[in-house]
Amino acid sequence: MWIDSHCHLDSFADISAVLQQASVQGVRCFLSIAVGIENFQSVLPLSLKFPQVCATAGVHPCYIKKHQLAGLKEWLTECAQNPKVVGLGETGLDLGPSSPDLGEQINFFQVHVDVAVMTGLPLIVHIRDAWEPFLKIARGWKGKGPKGVLHCFTGSLDVAQEMIDLGWKVSFSGIVTFKKTEALQQVVQALPLGSFVVETDAPWLAPVPFRGKENCPAYLLYTAQKISELKEVSQDVLAKSTTQAFFDLFPKTKPYFDEFCISQ
Ligand SMILES: [Zn+2]
Ligand SMILES: [Zn+2]
Repeated sequence: MWIDSHCHLDSFADISAVLQQASVQGVRCFLSIAVGIENFQSVLPLSLKFPQVCATAGVHPCYIKKHQLAGLKEWLTECAQNPKVVGLGETGLDLGPSSPDLGEQINFFQVHVDVAVMTGLPLIVHIRDAWEPFLKIARGWKGKGPKGVLHCFTGSLDVAQEMIDLGWKVSFSGIVTFKKTEALQQVVQALPLGSFVVETDAPWLAPVPFRGKENCPAYLLYTAQKISELKEVSQDVLAKSTTQAFFDLFPKTKPYFDEFCISQ
């Protein structure tokens, strides 16, 4: 049984079909990630309709311009009370060419951090070309910070290790199947089972052999196949370790996802 720890299910027209197609491949549970307040209104109903789907609430760093800082803390705190909202994000820092001002991004990120600490919910963190400012913030927590997952991880082994030591997980996506990602593949090889989860980030980032096409949760298997080769473990062992790592970080999902875990 696999859990897709990060997908955007609201992007799909026929969600029942997407879930069914994934289930046939053993991908049975899904964390559907919100990227903004309006988007959350599409994500939450899916988690209420499908028991195998849980939701997150947050404002993606690339969408902060459409949002206001005022009221964000209250909104996140209220969302966190919902039994099917199991994490906060995606939030983070993104230094892409057309990304918003870093200072503004940090302000939004900090609100997510504060609510995560207050509610005990984990963060879903997106970092693009911004490891330095992110680590500067994380090092300031001194053991009193939130827990979370570094999604679509593409950083160094040192960064992964430092965050894992703080109780965080990293999440590997279809990027590990791409050519010229030897450095990332070495990170996969070096990290112990239990320290990472897997994700598709569907509809984005389809793994080889579908690179460039629309991704879907069923394709998690291609990423899993690559990781099991890199780690020289069976898919079964990898599935169990990533599922356990997911439950360690997202205990709120357990009452919903447990029934899908019984049959492998
Ligand atoms: Zn992301
Ligand atoms: Zn995402």
